[in-house]
Amino acid sequence: MHGPHPLDIESIAVRAGQHRTTEGEHCEPIFTTSSFVFNSAAEAASRFVDDAPGNVYSRFTNPTVATFERRLAALESGEYGLATASGMAAIQLLCQSVLKAGDHVVVSASVFGSTITLFDKILSRFAIGVSFVDLNDLTGWRQAIRDNTKMLFVETPSNPLGRVANITELSALAKHSRCILVVDNAVATPILQRPLELGADVVVHSATKFLDGQGRCVGGAIITNSNQIYSDCFAGLRACGPSMSPFNAWVFLKGLETLPLRMKQHCINALELAVWLETQPAVRKVFYPGLHSHPDHQLASSQQTGFGAIVSFEVHGERADAWLVIDSTEMLSITGNLGDTKTTITHPATTTHGRLTEQQRHHAGIQNNLIRLAVGLESVNDIKTDLLLGLSKLSKDSGC
Ligand SMILES: *Cc1c(COP(=O)(O)O)cnc(C)c1O
Repeated sequence: MHGPHPLDIESIAVRAGQHRTTEGEHCEPIFTTSSFVFNSAAEAASRFVDDAPGNVYSRFTNPTVATFERRLAALESGEYGLATASGMAAIQLLCQSVLKAGDHVVVSASVFGSTITLFDKILSRFAIGVSFVDLNDLTGWRQAIRDNTKMLFVETPSNPLGRVANITELSALAKHSRCILVVDNAVATPILQRPLELGADVVVHSATKFLDGQGRCVGGAIITNSNQIYSDCFAGLRACGPSMSPFNAWVFLKGLETLPLRMKQHCINALELAVWLETQPAVRKVFYPGLHSHPDHQLASSQQTGFGAIVSFEVHGERADAWLVIDSTEMLSITGNLGDTKTTITHPATTTHGRLTEQQRHHAGIQNNLIRLAVGLESVNDIKTDLLLGLSKLSKDSGC
C-alpha cells in the first residue's frame, strides 16, 4: 500500500491494490489455488453463510484477482471492481444482474459486434427489449427511452470509426430517466477517459485489449461506485461463475503497470499514421478522432486526454481492394484483435462485423472498402512501408 498522499495515475497503475503478504514479496504473487482453508468450522461457517471477509473459493474470492480488481477500480476512480472471464462475460454478468424480464435497454448501434448479438439475439429471448440508436444523436437516445428502460449502453469512442458520445449528456439523460448509464471503456482505457468521473454508473472492460496490451489473455471487468450494482453482480458471479483465472489476473496486473506509458505511445503512433494516410492517393477517407477532419474531433478533445490507437480508412474501390491492401502487408498481423503492441489490420465488414446483417452494418457505417488498424508500438515508418506495399498497387490501378 502507498503512503498518505494521493497518487497520480502513473503511480496508481504501478502500485494500487497490492496487499503484501507476510513473505514480503515485491511483485504481486499468483495464488493458484481453487479453495482456501479455515482455522475452524466456525470460521468456515461465518465466511460461507455470513459473508465475513476472507477467501472461500476462487470462483468469487482470489487474492490475485482481487488485487487486479482494486487496481483497475482505482484507475477508473471507482470504488468497486469485479473481474470476469472475458469482456463479454462482464457485459453478460452486468445485464443478468441488473435487468429482468420486461425491462428495456437502449444501446448504441456502434458497439462491439458480440455486444450487439448479446442484446439483439440472446437477452431478447429472456424478454428484455432493446432499441439501437446512433451514439451521438442525443434526441434519438431520448426518444428511444420508455417507461421500462433500465439501462443506456454506449461504447465511446466507437470501434472502428471513432465516433464519440457525450458521456456527461448521456449520464444526465439516464439520471432524468431513472436508468443507469453503462460505458464500455475498452477502447479508450482509464488513461484516456474516466467515464465514472463524467457521471456514468458502470464501466465495463475487455481486459483482453489494452489492459493486457500484449495479446496474451482473455478477461474483463465491471467497475462501479454503486454498492447495489456491485453486490448484485458479485452475487451473480458467485452463483454463475464467469470468473477470471488468477494467472490471467496477474498478467493483467503487470499490463496495467505499463498502461499509461503504452497508451501515450499508441496515441502518438496512431496520429502520425492517420495524418499520413490522409495524404495517400489510394485512400478515400480516414477515420481518427485526433484528425481535424473527424466529425467528433471537438468532443473527443474535451472528453478524452488522447485519441487512442484505432485508425480506420476507406480505400478507393471495393472489398477486393481493401483485401489487397491487407494481404500485401508483410509485418502487420491480420487479426481482429486490438490493443496489442503488435499493429493489427482487419477488414471489419467480413470479420468483427461479419455476423451483422447488411442493415446493421450499414447503420454502423461499416463499408466494404473499410480497413481498420489497431496501431501498435512498432516504428511508424515500418508500418507505413508495410501499408504502402498494397496502397501503391491501388494507386497504379486507379491511375492516380
Ligand atoms: C473485445 C471487446 C469486447 C469483448 O471482450 P472479450 O474480452 O473479447 O470478451 C467488448 N467491448 C469492446 C469494445 C471490445 O473491444
